[in-house]
Amino acid sequence: MSIETLTAAVRNISDFPIKGIQFKDITTLFQSPTHLKELSDILYERYKDKGITKVVGIESRGFFMGPATALRLNAGFVPIRKPGKLPYTVIEEKYTKEYGVDAIQIHQDAITEDDVVLLHDDLLATGGTMAAAYKLVKKMQAKKIYINFLIELEMLNGRALFPDDVEINTILRYDI
Ligand code: AMP
Repeated sequence: MSIETLTAAVRNISDFPIKGIQFKDITTLFQSPTHLKELSDILYERYKDKGITKVVGIESRGFFMGPATALRLNAGFVPIRKPGKLPYTVIEEKYTKEYGVDAIQIHQDAITEDDVVLLHDDLLATGGTMAAAYKLVKKMQAKKIYINFLIELEMLNGRALFPDDVEINTILRYDI
């Protein structure tokens, strides 16, 4: 299956959730078993030889392919969640959004120095969310960190927020 076919399967919703946003709806991609399998195969092929021990998914759309990828890579799955959702002691990172400040949290014992981490979310826009996640996992002294998104909105240049030596992979790319 071609990347063009997968790219075309994402539904674009104009002005959702607010005016001016071109929302990439991945539910149309996921509802096809062949598309889902193709995405899973791409992720597996890309990371199977990297020694990934934990896939860390970001709430909430990082929870779709995150655990599925962890299973195939023989890795564990760790959630990064919005404040107040995780029950044990957490480490938190705040980040600036378009309007105001937001935060994400991870359990303090979820990552160790022996872990090779694959950070995963559905979409790279400005990069603020993933940059905060990267800082969290970096603080926990993971041995190595890889970053993956299903989708990249290239015009927003979210990659610029990350150090040059971090490997960032995306599968589907859009201009808007
Ligand atoms: P950012 O921190 O700006 O990179 O935003 C990334 C997060 O916001 C991801 O978790 C996405 O799920 C969501 N997001 C941002 N922009 C869009 C968009 N145009 N379509 C769908 N989701 C988006």
